[in-house]
Amino acid sequence: MELRLYDTLSREKRTFVPLDAKNVRMYVCGPTVYDFAHIGNARPVIVFDVLFRLLRHIYGEAHVKYVRNITDVDDKINDRAARDFPGLPLNEAIRKVTEQTGKQFHADVDALGALRPSVEPRATEHIGEMREIIERLIKGGFAYAAEDHVLFSPQAMNAANSTLPRYGALSKRSLDEMIAGARVDVAPYKKDSTDFVLWKPSKPGEPSWPSPAGIKTEGRPGWHIECSAMAWKHLGEQFDIHGGGIDLVFPHHENEVAQTCCAFHQQRMANYWMHNGFLQVESEKMSKSLGNFVTIRELLVDWPGEVLRLNMLKTHYTSPIDWTMKSLEESARTLNDWYRFAADVAPSKPGTSVVDALLDDLNTPQAIAALHGLRNASDAAGLSASLRLLGFLSESAAQWQGRKQQASGIDAAEIERLIAERTAARARKDFRESDRIRDELAAKGVVIKDGKDADGKPVTTWELA
Ligand SMILES: [Zn+2]
Repeated sequence: MELRLYDTLSREKRTFVPLDAKNVRMYVCGPTVYDFAHIGNARPVIVFDVLFRLLRHIYGEAHVKYVRNITDVDDKINDRAARDFPGLPLNEAIRKVTEQTGKQFHADVDALGALRPSVEPRATEHIGEMREIIERLIKGGFAYAAEDHVLFSPQAMNAANSTLPRYGALSKRSLDEMIAGARVDVAPYKKDSTDFVLWKPSKPGEPSWPSPAGIKTEGRPGWHIECSAMAWKHLGEQFDIHGGGIDLVFPHHENEVAQTCCAFHQQRMANYWMHNGFLQVESEKMSKSLGNFVTIRELLVDWPGEVLRLNMLKTHYTSPIDWTMKSLEESARTLNDWYRFAADVAPSKPGTSVVDALLDDLNTPQAIAALHGLRNASDAAGLSASLRLLGFLSESAAQWQGRKQQASGIDAAEIERLIAERTAARARKDFRESDRIRDELAAKGVVIKDGKDADGKPVTTWELA
């Protein structure tokens, strides 16, 4: 099985060759937890979950390590904590916010059918690693301390006569252009306008830790160094795949590469950089001010998580996605049919057409077309296996049906009772009564189908219209 992935750094689709097939390593930037996650946050969760499952399928479950961090040091978290828990000391309030939102996030992504990553490190548990990378960068001449801050110098990186990558290579930006385009009001402690923060002083009441570089006052890390530290701790100086949203390419991922490569004298941080596209809602950019800000939690009230998952995978991960109600309804209809047809069937092997589509840079729209193909060919066992590979069919057909009834307020026992009455009426050839019951069910939105079971005995099944 040859997996090909589009790599943002080389701007081409390349055959995936892991550094160590016994230990395939992937890092994905996780959320900053200060509120309910929105549907845009769900995109990398679902996309990289499919990749995680595919890698496990190829290399074996025990040979893939997936790390997705939780950012729990951030200004937005601090603001939120101060607002929601004004009576508490800030440190305690922050812990409350990150605990609460972390739990919400887990509940949401579980409902989306995403496997938990192998490790979910928190920034606050890796301050030691961050300090060590910072010390290495200072020693190597890539970073300097000034006014209780530590700054990274992209100029120093690009001036180094070595095999290091060029700063700007990932985002295809030239450092000269960045310098030319820099704002005029650059912070006074920066030597150059493009220098970015590795460490900064904490404001009073904010979480703080002993500083590196001999700085006397306590401080806290910048955002970019957090991911370099957690990736290093759990995946090593170099690993296979680094993923995240397209909005993270610059400056976040560019700075991660700079920090890690300069600290460990590596030419690469990750061998493949993968970025998922933007998400908009009903053809508009999602924003709180536009009032079209949709949380995963809100959607889960009306839709099973697997419907959201299928809806997300209908678009290729690199393309922008337009999240619409119409598309959601279509996804729900598709899944209802697949559940009825394949959920209770023992899986055989995932369809070759489905796996091949995924091997081609995670082409999920094509994989879904292949799923329809299996359905049309009445290959229930193949469809069952293929859907499971993609993270679907976590429930039985009855559970799925029951969830729909719950949503529409239908009483399944009452329906079964009416169907039994109708069967009895038919047995005594009282067709007026059996038709009356059928109409009564139709009025409730229940469609019945008469057929035969495996032994040829007549059987009546039902579904919601
Ligand atoms: Zn990151």
